[in-house]
Amino acid sequence: MSIPNYLADDSEIAGAITRVDESLQRLLKEKQLEPKPLLVCSGGTSTRCAADGHWTLDLRKCCKEIIFQPNENVVELGAGLTMKVLLGELLKYKRSFPTGLSGETGMGYILSGGISPLSRCQGLAIDQTLEINGIWGTGESFTFSKPNQSADLFEKKHWKALCGAAPFLAIITSLKLKTLPLQPIYFWKSKVTQKELSKLISDSEKWPSSASLQWSWGSEITAYAVMVNSNNSSKDSLSRLIKSVRAIDDEEIIPINGLHMLPNLISEVSNKSKISIRIHSEVLGILGPEWGDYCEDIIKSLSSLIKNRPHPNCTISSQQLGGFNEQNSLESFSFIDKNAMWKPWITASWEKNDVKGRVESIKWLKDVWETLEANCPGVHLAQMHQHLDWHQKEIKSAFGEWLPELQDLKSIYDPNGLLPAL
Ligand SMILES: Cc1cc2nc3c(=O)[nH]c(=O)nc-3n(C[C@H](O)[C@H](O)[C@H](O)COP(=O)(O)OP(=O)(O)OC[C@H]3O[C@@H](n4cnc5c(N)ncnc54)[C@H](O)[C@@H]3O)c2cc1C
Repeated sequence: MSIPNYLADDSEIAGAITRVDESLQRLLKEKQLEPKPLLVCSGGTSTRCAADGHWTLDLRKCCKEIIFQPNENVVELGAGLTMKVLLGELLKYKRSFPTGLSGETGMGYILSGGISPLSRCQGLAIDQTLEINGIWGTGESFTFSKPNQSADLFEKKHWKALCGAAPFLAIITSLKLKTLPLQPIYFWKSKVTQKELSKLISDSEKWPSSASLQWSWGSEITAYAVMVNSNNSSKDSLSRLIKSVRAIDDEEIIPINGLHMLPNLISEVSNKSKISIRIHSEVLGILGPEWGDYCEDIIKSLSSLIKNRPHPNCTISSQQLGGFNEQNSLESFSFIDKNAMWKPWITASWEKNDVKGRVESIKWLKDVWETLEANCPGVHLAQMHQHLDWHQKEIKSAFGEWLPELQDLKSIYDPNGLLPAL
């Protein structure tokens, strides 16, 4: 099987299961799976969709149905489809969905929360979920609909668990999702200096929720601002926000028809190298509130870590949240960091088979995490690391006080640990 993530693709798996049917359910019910856990591949963009010696359930082969219902503006999405396919289908109906910075990601993007450059005004991807279909780790199938105010505790608790922690409990086969009107966007992308980045970050903490800042720092710093084109003055508004930091021509503000046309923030550095060496990487996403007065100091610390990074493809990047997410209660999700304004993610990279390079890069990632931890204490579990020594820490930081209840549910729905450990 060919997987977009090079580390997963280069692993020697026990085998691939390519159907979600009664034989898979029987396998789970009769606990016949060895070794545990079964890994699940949707978009295949993370390292934990396939690993040496493990079985992978490749949903890309079987869960490929997508049905848009124009009367309700909802879409049913099979778990084997990517965000690019979702946006392509919705485009036919002038509808959209808050996808992230890459169309390559699959259902893991939605199940882990799904932070879009438009999340500050449209919410997270998981906010749009109306119905969840899947199979528990026990092999039983289920359907849950978004609970209303009068729903009982059982429904609310299960919904919360599935919205943000589903991969620990179940295999999700399809989702019913709310769609949004296709929204034209303005974006600006440019290389910036360290000083400009620092000013952009502190300014953007006061930006309206129709705008967001993304940035990525490797051999250079790329900044990337997005603003919803909601009225005639949107272009001027974005231009003004950027001009408070640096002089730009208005032509640098580019109009596009929607998220499906967003260019890449980074040229996929985490996975591909200009030369033909396969680059392996691990990524950790963290979450934190506004950086405020700490901004300059944080940037200075990151600057020295960047200078000493062990591989050119090691990067530190960030997405902006806040706005919509702050105003709306996230009580009903396992995505617990309600006050997050920034989601930095740290990419540790090394060349395939470079054991020493891997150790150094992972250590560098941990150093960056430690440096940012005071300001970004949360974890966004967009990537899982059961195979690394910080897994317990990331689980605790991701789920906080909700973790014991999640673990209770795990003991009911995946008592034999056939799915990833919690
Ligand atoms: C280029 C790039 C850009 C990204 N941009 C963003 C962004 O803007 N915002 C953001 O929030 N994240 C972003 N991410 C992170 C990405 O959304 C997560 O890593 C996500 O988990 C990837 O999902 P996947 O289906 O593509 O990957 P996979 O590797 O197939 O799956 C990831 C994990 O989710 C679990 N999983 C997947 N599908 C199912 C299922 N149907 N049932 C149960 N478990 C399942 C698997 O166990 C696996 O461990 C980005 C990642 C990349 C590579």
